[in-house]
Amino acid sequence: MRLGAGGYQRLTQSIARTAAIWAAIADTNTTTIAATRRSIGWLLSRFARDATPSARSGGAVGERTGIQWTSATWNPVRGCSRVSEGCRHCYAEVVAARFSGPGLPYEGLARRVGGEARWTGKVRMVPEHLADPLRWKKPRRIFVNSMSDLFHEGLSFEQIAAVFGVMAAAGRHTFQVLTKRPQRAREFLDWIGGAGNECDLLGDHASEALIAAGIGVLEPVHHRLGSRVGWPLPNVQLGFSAEDQDTFNARWCQIAGAPAAVLFCSYEPALGPVNARGALGIGDYGPPPRRLDWIIVGGESGPGARPFNIEWVRSTIDDCREAGVACFVKQLGAKPTIADGDYRDFGFAPHVTFSGTGQGRIGCWLRDSHGGDPDEWPADLRVREFPA
Ligand code: SF4
Repeated sequence: MRLGAGGYQRLTQSIARTAAIWAAIADTNTTTIAATRRSIGWLLSRFARDATPSARSGGAVGERTGIQWTSATWNPVRGCSRVSEGCRHCYAEVVAARFSGPGLPYEGLARRVGGEARWTGKVRMVPEHLADPLRWKKPRRIFVNSMSDLFHEGLSFEQIAAVFGVMAAAGRHTFQVLTKRPQRAREFLDWIGGAGNECDLLGDHASEALIAAGIGVLEPVHHRLGSRVGWPLPNVQLGFSAEDQDTFNARWCQIAGAPAAVLFCSYEPALGPVNARGALGIGDYGPPPRRLDWIIVGGESGPGARPFNIEWVRSTIDDCREAGVACFVKQLGAKPTIADGDYRDFGFAPHVTFSGTGQGRIGCWLRDSHGGDPDEWPADLRVREFPA
């Protein structure tokens, strides 16, 4: 069978997503899975040769993960439970359910209920992966717990501190901790902080966990936690997810005063408009004590994806511009829509087609099923910035 350019692109993207799933899991060493990874790697290299330029650049953006705003994922914790509407189509839950059979990494943590993936609500540490970032020599931007939530109520503060201890010791990397539980994040930071010996405490908890796991890097962890490390940890960015105004308001209030080198919001999956002007310091009530440093925005993708209004991302970009804050447009999702009007003025790629949604809006049909290829977007949406 021969594939056209579009076919190669779709196949390459599909393989990349499969590779991303394995990278996201990244927590088993069985021979079978290693062989599967090798096969995926071979397929990627085989098809990358013939892929279109945009498919090649898409692959380069996320070699280790399909998440464009990071360069690697690290999952020292497995398991989660839903918090709000933004969790309805949780990607991690689907992957976990797929690998929840006997002997598989998510056994006991997820299952299928009536044909749908469901977390069981149990959470556990993965001690054998706790030290992974200490082994990665090249500096990376690392998304912590892409398959869980570090501040899940099923984890003790001591366990969370062990993860923070490794982040403190792996100072060459930038860690991105994203949560839908900012209240618990705040409680943890209050618990660990304030006495002036936060790094010692983090080192103690990390060392205990590493020794318990038989990894035996007690000395290196303490050695690396020298006077160079300050508090809040300079290499840890703390973010919260919000899908609409209510979740944004509630979670921003909970995290606004948290000690963090960078505070950010992932407005994804965006399910409604969000006015973040107050948090960006351009609201009507004057600048907050601490403003947001970064906003990531994206529409929902995958089966059952809900519509994403292009006005939401435009307004977020405009507000970030006005505030001088970094903005990262991750994807337009599977169902981007624009207001009824002359859609040709919006500057989508020529191959993009449009159709009515029946709700007074126009649906945009992009080739990339996640809406994650900026080449298909109007030029003003191609914004992918990182905080300084
Ligand atoms: S908090 Fe994150 S990982 Fe947990 S269920 Fe919600 S979307 Fe999934």
